[in-house]
Amino acid sequence: MSFEKLGIIKPLLSAIADLGYKSPTTVQTRAIPLVLAKSDVFATAQTGTGKTAAFGLPLLQRLRKPQEGKGVRVVILSPTRELSIQIYEDLEKYAKNMKINIMILVGGKDLEKQRQKLKEGVEIVIATPGRLMEHTESGLSLKDVEAFVLDEADRMLDMGFTKDIRKIHPLLPKRHQTLLFSATYSEKVRKLSKLVLNKPAFIETGKKNSTVDTINQKAYLVDTTRKAALLAYLIGSRNYPQVLVFTRTKKSADELAIELKKDGLKCGILHGDKTKANRLKTLTQFKEGHFKVLVATDIASRGLDIEHLPYVINYELPSIPEDYVHRVGRTGRAGREGEAISLIDIYEKYDIRDIEKLIGQKIPQETVEGFEPDPTIRRKDVDEVKLKAEHKRASGKKERKYNKNTSSVPTTKKQMKATKKKRKTTKRDG
Ligand code: AMP
Repeated sequence: MSFEKLGIIKPLLSAIADLGYKSPTTVQTRAIPLVLAKSDVFATAQTGTGKTAAFGLPLLQRLRKPQEGKGVRVVILSPTRELSIQIYEDLEKYAKNMKINIMILVGGKDLEKQRQKLKEGVEIVIATPGRLMEHTESGLSLKDVEAFVLDEADRMLDMGFTKDIRKIHPLLPKRHQTLLFSATYSEKVRKLSKLVLNKPAFIETGKKNSTVDTINQKAYLVDTTRKAALLAYLIGSRNYPQVLVFTRTKKSADELAIELKKDGLKCGILHGDKTKANRLKTLTQFKEGHFKVLVATDIASRGLDIEHLPYVINYELPSIPEDYVHRVGRTGRAGREGEAISLIDIYEKYDIRDIEKLIGQKIPQETVEGFEPDPTIRRKDVDEVKLKAEHKRASGKKERKYNKNTSSVPTTKKQMKATKKKRKTTKRDG
């Protein structure tokens, strides 16, 4: 298949040829004709499969004829500022031979300046839901929107944008095209699709929640206290040119960066406590090769596109199994090979099973010579965990028994008040 055969017009063909795109990816082959035919689309595309061009190219093509006096014609919603910038940069590259005004609406920029630019005439808006709401509340009209794209819809819902999306949707004209892209498929995504899509065509590239085939995944068993040393050893001895390291929390990202610096490894940190400007600067510096290790929390696992990123290391497994898919999706993009290594301690040995269930494949577990887990620590810890679990179960049983014997249905107003008060206290304590 070729982009030409899919009906893509010359100005776009020459732009993507300059980018080195030789043939369309699976999601592009399937989505482009549907988007050109103005059909609604629901695509569960894996990360890094080329989905930006899958919706970007046909939408740009639709806008090739300027329409005088029209407002915004395409709205693309994305979960993060970083992803919005990336979509913007991609679309600008695709549209370089066309006259289309594309604008990005994300937080951290002057609202008034954005308003001014919007007034000058913009055809495509790429926005985070919160910032778009701010603009619609202060007068931005969406009545001329022909196409509405929800990119990484699952992430937007996870980040709590459901309300904003529900408020934005009724502001769109009755007749418009909606394209929903999601890396994973969940009940929340299904519900959203029911709300926003009209007789959609379904595109499923690869198995739901599966990781990209070209990624070589493995797990190294190691003691918690030796993880930082193993990481430094792997980066040093294997001469990794550029590596993205994920931690579960902001605190462990900061602590790990300190440890790595002690080992002489310069690294950047990307997490939610950093300002947006700082995150962007770190990302640019990483892309430019100022340092080779980037330590990030899951906030960074989406919307990051670093060309040829060969290695992703999970210093800690994510608390949500779906985030594993997003994390490792940072490597092996667009058919390139990549390696995803997870450093797992005795506790995470159990967490990895949930991930394996989700992705439908086994992740081989190995040890690195000199970093084998200490079996005595293992036994002690496991015993402790078992004991704690047994204790919890036993005390739960006792409590239930006690409640069964002593509790009675509150009948008087005084009793009901007391029960309510007790419930409230328990909730707050928890
Ligand atoms: P995306 O999934 O849109 O984030 O794209 C992932 C990466 O693949 C980006 O670096 C794109 O520039 C690249 N890409 C997209 N489509 C193609 C293609 N047809 N051929 C080669 N690279 C592509």
